[in-house]
Amino acid sequence: MSAVLVLVDYDGSTVRKAAFELLTLARRIGDPVAVVVGPDAASAADALRGHGATTIVTVDDAAVLDHLVAPVAEALAQLVARYSAVAVLVPSSSSGKEVAGRLAIKISSGVVTDAVDVERDETENPAQLVAIKSVFAGSFTTRCVVSHGIPIICVKPNSVAPEPAADTEATVVAFVPELSDLARAARITARAPRQASGRPDLGEAAIVVSGGRGTNGDFAPVESFADALGGAVGASRAAVDAGWYPHANQVGQTGTTVSPQLYVAAGISGAIQHRAGMQTSKTVVAVNKDAEAPIFEMVDFGVVGDLATVLPAATDEIAKRRT
Ligand code: FAD
Repeated sequence: MSAVLVLVDYDGSTVRKAAFELLTLARRIGDPVAVVVGPDAASAADALRGHGATTIVTVDDAAVLDHLVAPVAEALAQLVARYSAVAVLVPSSSSGKEVAGRLAIKISSGVVTDAVDVERDETENPAQLVAIKSVFAGSFTTRCVVSHGIPIICVKPNSVAPEPAADTEATVVAFVPELSDLARAARITARAPRQASGRPDLGEAAIVVSGGRGTNGDFAPVESFADALGGAVGASRAAVDAGWYPHANQVGQTGTTVSPQLYVAAGISGAIQHRAGMQTSKTVVAVNKDAEAPIFEMVDFGVVGDLATVLPAATDEIAKRRT
């Protein structure tokens, strides 16, 4: 068995789509061993089985859940050894990347972050795994190989279409890792649920509509357009710094990295720090009243115009076509 460990994106009650995307990739390169960390982790088993996990390892020991990510990295390191894993796939979220970095130190392996695909090197060496990245606003595709240890690959959400599998026979194993004192150095003292907006989570939404300084503080057209498309709302740092939208919605270098199928930038100039958070989006559309705005250098489709006119017209058109 060529076990590929998949760290499941699980929020304590729901398995997120990113986990099914990783399982889809893992099936292409080996036997997916899904590792679910969270309360009542066994409840995730059916969903994971339906996406091809052959082994489901549940970790819901209080000692792991009460601490930050260090125990998760220790658990994964022990599971790599137990299953002789050939690779580890992790969501390319901020916590996923931290787990990956800590795991890499523990098992002396290389990490690739922000991958959009993983495949075997069928031409030269099929045992070798290649992580594919899209860089410089999608202008280049790079192929990355880990040269030391087993590859730990962080995969961006929405990079792969999740494919359900015929229900597999999966073994469910409860695992209690042995934790070092260091892993328990930082403890979680309180948790508060984020206020629900009714919109998809920014980091994993398939469609994101973002507003910038060009909104002049009025995000209503941006929100209405996002709602018409069933998308999440993002914001540039200029809009966040002005207090027009919460920091949780900021897209960019110092905000969230998104990689949706469709990214709409409205009233955003396209500064490098903003691009850093959305440049791997599949299709980029911009609405900007300045035809010279740098964002137009990277778009698939651009509209030169006032967002206060263009977005409501597009929203109306979508509503009309839906009825
Ligand atoms: P502007 O650059 O002011 O652009 C506004 C755009 O709106 C213009 O192109 C204008 O033509 C257009 N416009 C105006 N009115 C209208 C209208 N009515 N209709 C249509 N278009 C209109 N930025 C981020 O976004 N995310 C980050 O994470 C981030 N991190 C940073 C980290 C560092 C260390 C630094 C130094 C900067 C960072 N920035 C970040 C800031 C970044 O450099 C830009 O200042 C910011 O992205 C600009 O936001 P903006 O495009 O909304 O505003």
